Amino acid sequence: MSTEIFNRAGDSITTEDETLLLDSIHRWLDRDVKDKVMALEHADEYPHEMVAQMKELGLFGATISREYGGLALPASTYAKIVTTISEVWMSLSGIFNSHLIMCAAVERFGTPEQKQEYLPRFAKGEIRGGLALTEPGCGTDLQAIRTHAVRDGDNYVINGTKTWISNGIEGSCFALLVKTDLHAEPRHQGMSLFLAEKGDGFSVSKKLKKLGYKGIDSAELVFDDYVVPASRLIGGEEGLGFQHTVGGLELGRINVAARGVGIANAALREATAYSQVRETMGKPICQHQAIQTKIGDMATRCEAAKLLTESAAQAYDKGERCDMEAGMAKLFASESALKNAEECMRIFGGYGYSTEFPVERLYRDAPLMCIGEGTNEMQKIIIARQQIARNPV
Ligand SMILES: Cc1cc2nc3c(=O)[nH]c(=O)nc-3n(C[C@H](O)[C@H](O)[C@H](O)COP(=O)(O)OP(=O)(O)OC[C@H]3O[C@@H](n4cnc5c(N)ncnc54)[C@H](O)[C@@H]3O)c2cc1C
Repeated sequence: MSTEIFNRAGDSITTEDETLLLDSIHRWLDRDVKDKVMALEHADEYPHEMVAQMKELGLFGATISREYGGLALPASTYAKIVTTISEVWMSLSGIFNSHLIMCAAVERFGTPEQKQEYLPRFAKGEIRGGLALTEPGCGTDLQAIRTHAVRDGDNYVINGTKTWISNGIEGSCFALLVKTDLHAEPRHQGMSLFLAEKGDGFSVSKKLKKLGYKGIDSAELVFDDYVVPASRLIGGEEGLGFQHTVGGLELGRINVAARGVGIANAALREATAYSQVRETMGKPICQHQAIQTKIGDMATRCEAAKLLTESAAQAYDKGERCDMEAGMAKLFASESALKNAEECMRIFGGYGYSTEFPVERLYRDAPLMCIGEGTNEMQKIIIARQQIARNPV
């Protein structure tokens, strides 16, 4: 029987709609993606054709409200989509994940004019982008950023450098975190979030080379007397940028957890299949207990990571505070991805090390899940603080 699933804004879809949507994603992956991943990955080539198909599927508006042309999906449905795509090629999810966090910042905190101007074009994928927070000197300690905006009449003039920005080359608009007061105490009161569209003074200084997460562009962005109208200050008020950024972290961590589940599942799928066809000592290696204990642990990690991610997404959809739950899901799912990728490589033996199989890609992609959207070291601290705060004596 079909039931309704609500998102935190009160919009709903039915479980039947969710099944149809996931079916269409599976069909797309089978038809247009699976056979092309290996070539694009090894050439580190941006998947333009797939991005056009992702627009058609509505992925760039997945979590945007219907009134702005989005699909208004609950986080729980969205997480399933991210997992499904990451099981095939995790890089693809990066193209719309941070874009949607930018969209969420505008929808939750933007002025009515900003919502009207940007959200419909974000939802169609006409304007795509992401988040520009990290700088060469800081990532975890975001309150230490140096990029600075100075008011000049109806505009702000911005100077500074951002690094590791996903979609930095192919994207055209970014939620840009800056200081509007370098001396504010506490420091976060001097931070503001702008919608920065590429133009004079906003350039890409380099494409960053990396271990994995190929295909999607990671770039350093430079702002050199970049002039942005004051109307692009998200929410229209200075000093709220840190809260607006932190407000997107729960969904961001559910995103990363869902990607981790995808990688962990892919490693389990590959290992399960290979262990049944590879023979040693006269039998398939899946009949050796040493391999069985690995597969048993891998399957258990997949299930636990999925359940933690679903539970965090459901709490998010209900509008509950879920920084602890999202942190637990992100921590466990990313570590599961890393461990499953390693175990898969061991099960494949020498072939796991070969670029002819997807195993080495999973092994290169998994560590990013432990770093992005707040490192796992920080997740443990967040979880511990919440555990103590929720259980005072
Ligand atoms: C492929 C890729 C894509 C990315 N995409 C984006 C993007 O789109 N937008 C964006 O803004 N950023 C992006 N990032 C940046 C990412 O968010 C940061 O790398 C991450 O937040 C960590 O910051 P850092 O690298 O400066 O490490 P640091 O903050 O320097 O941390 C170094 C180490 O110290 C630990 N540490 C730091 N502070 C503490 C503490 N208080 N207690 C305990 N341990 C601590 C950390 O856990 C880590 O182990 C991306 C990074 C990569 C690699």
